[in-house]
Amino acid sequence: MDAEIIAVGSEMLTRERVDTNSLYLTGELNNLGVEVVTKCVIGDDRDRLADAVRRALSRTGIVLLSGGLGPTEDDVTREAVAQALDRKLVFHPEIADALEQRFLLMKRKMAEVNKRQAFVIQGADLLPNDRGTAPGQWVEESGGVVVLLPGPPHELKAMFERQCLPRLTRIVPKQAIRTIFFRVTGMPESDLDQLIAPVYKKYENPVTTILAANGDLQIHLRARCATEAEADALLAEVAGPIELLLGDRLYSRNGSPLEVVVGDLLRKNHATVSVAESCTGGMLGERFTSAPGSSDYFVGGFITYSNKMKMELLGVSPEMLEEFGAVSKETAEAMALGARRRTNSTYALSVTGVAGPDAGTKAAPLGAVYVGIADAAGTYVAHRQFIGDRQRIRVFTTQMALDLLRRRITGRVHVDSPKPIVG
Ligand code: ATP
Repeated sequence: MDAEIIAVGSEMLTRERVDTNSLYLTGELNNLGVEVVTKCVIGDDRDRLADAVRRALSRTGIVLLSGGLGPTEDDVTREAVAQALDRKLVFHPEIADALEQRFLLMKRKMAEVNKRQAFVIQGADLLPNDRGTAPGQWVEESGGVVVLLPGPPHELKAMFERQCLPRLTRIVPKQAIRTIFFRVTGMPESDLDQLIAPVYKKYENPVTTILAANGDLQIHLRARCATEAEADALLAEVAGPIELLLGDRLYSRNGSPLEVVVGDLLRKNHATVSVAESCTGGMLGERFTSAPGSSDYFVGGFITYSNKMKMELLGVSPEMLEEFGAVSKETAEAMALGARRRTNSTYALSVTGVAGPDAGTKAAPLGAVYVGIADAAGTYVAHRQFIGDRQRIRVFTTQMALDLLRRRITGRVHVDSPKPIVG
């Protein structure tokens, strides 16, 4: 069974407010095996909202609305749903009395406008709201259901949990949704899609989604079946060949980010890491330390932005900087060696590059990045030419560095000693 969610409120059509209720509702519906197929935000406009409700109900069995149940003129959800279903709004004096009592308890007189909240769509079940004034409504219509929930998240959650979940459990056929969340790095999104599309395109279930951000690719597989076991079996049938195709580029099977995966590998190997950063200015250290428990393996780092600091803190020789420049494989190697010597870490990573926006030089153009790694066996320097703005280049560089370390720990990068290889 499918569902649609409509968040009501003009404030969510501005940049100040975000609809978070639908995220909560989506999670709860998924737990029941219900897929959310469409969601939207509609401003406080009765006709537009009525139109959205009509269309949603014509194609989907469960329509949830949040917000617009307050007492003021701009709270139009009751009227809009009544209009969409061609039903009357009926005044319930007992709701008005209860509201009045609530105001009396607060030693306030209820304004006349609050009586708007005592109107109920003909034939609807009332959903009590013990955290606010607006009651919710459950309206069944030609085999489907429209549910009106209050906007404030704590009111909505309590009402959904207590009033809606038991009702939905009764009407929703038993279904299970299971997901797999792969993460991949080191390839463009289009190459990834070309690689795995021949596998996933054969299946409508599971649904496959590819998301890309900052050099990181996510593959979500979502299977919906009658039982969890069937969903798991279906996922395995699709995920197996995808894993084979991805090989070494697949770094996470449970959605963990790269810094966590690398941190776990370091911990498992009783290894430590230090960093020497130039163009990333501390971003690599930040990513390492964003993982809880990173003190197990992250010893620290050097932000050596100027040549002077590269010489003083890491021991890079002035002759080398003069001959090859700060953005070069030789400097990256010397920085990694220097960081390792000074920290005694198992691995040292170094980063040097041209993040822009200045164009750089012929030898080191904008976007040129060198990432070095040093360990007891030797060194390796990877070179990439990125495109994009300063932030993008820097973020991609941290991704490249973390992935280099991952591949080194798992034995997929072979170091050379004493001379570096550029790859
Ligand atoms: P009431 O008027 O009794 O507060 P309501 O049902 O009319 O309830 P709204 O007036 O639409 O609710 O929203 C009240 C507040 O709830 C908003 O200011 C906002 O902070 C929050 N809210 C509303 N809708 C959402 C949403 N979809 N996601 C997150 N917060 C929301």
